[in-house]
Amino acid sequence: MPFGKASSGVAPGAFLPCSNCRKTIFAAEFEANLRVCPYCGHHHRLTWQQRVDVVFDEGSFVELDTDLRSGDPLHFPDYAEKHAQAMQRTKMRDSVVSGRATLMGMPVSTAISDFHFMGGSMGSVAGEKITRAIERGAHEGIPAIIFCASGGARMQEGLLSLMQMAKTTAAVEACRSAGVPYIAVFTDPTMAGVLASYASIADVIVSEPRALIGFAGARVSKQAQVSKVPDDFQTAEFLLSHGMLDKIIERKNLRTNLASLCRLLGGHLAAVEATRG
Ligand SMILES: [Zn+2]
Repeated sequence: MPFGKASSGVAPGAFLPCSNCRKTIFAAEFEANLRVCPYCGHHHRLTWQQRVDVVFDEGSFVELDTDLRSGDPLHFPDYAEKHAQAMQRTKMRDSVVSGRATLMGMPVSTAISDFHFMGGSMGSVAGEKITRAIERGAHEGIPAIIFCASGGARMQEGLLSLMQMAKTTAAVEACRSAGVPYIAVFTDPTMAGVLASYASIADVIVSEPRALIGFAGARVSKQAQVSKVPDDFQTAEFLLSHGMLDKIIERKNLRTNLASLCRLLGGHLAAVEATRG
């Protein structure tokens, strides 16, 4: 699905460089190609609105949990200012947007991280929205699809951020108990506390190509004097070849592939229920 007019944000006739191969791309072509470089195939990051446009049925997304606001429990230096600036710049309230949508006609519960808001970091609001999206799927009997794009837990909220790891992880159990599929979609980047909690325990884990996926970033690994890691050790392709991912899906195929997964898992779970009954 092409981007909606509201989420494109690129002037017609403009050119821009690919952040990977540096070749110049005609902006209209770039947008039509869902922000994937036509030369090297690099999947550039999307805003949450663009993600909605790419995946869900047009006009079907309804945002929920809009009343949640982050506190500043530690009075962390500059946090309030940085948060306010991010809100102004992105027109978001925090790094995650959650709600309901339909995917090729199927109702789903979803939460979408946006890296443009403080690196997609997971503070108490992001964690709560993800938890609610997963639990909503369980309670309503509809698949929960979570899109990850995050540098990890938000350090400015200290332990409250780390607590989101346990909370979101526990929420996944609600889907298991209800027999509802929970699918995680890794996008660039999916790191640290996000990878180490709800992201990596989904029923099915898929990723966009060449997404950066890992726990400690390359700089931290270097500081810890971790040596001799392969050059591609934190890429989606490396993780797929080592059994950490189920599939890498190109952006243009994400919508149809996710719909097939929901249909397949939903049908399978219905069959299990029928044999139980
Ligand atoms: Zn490129």
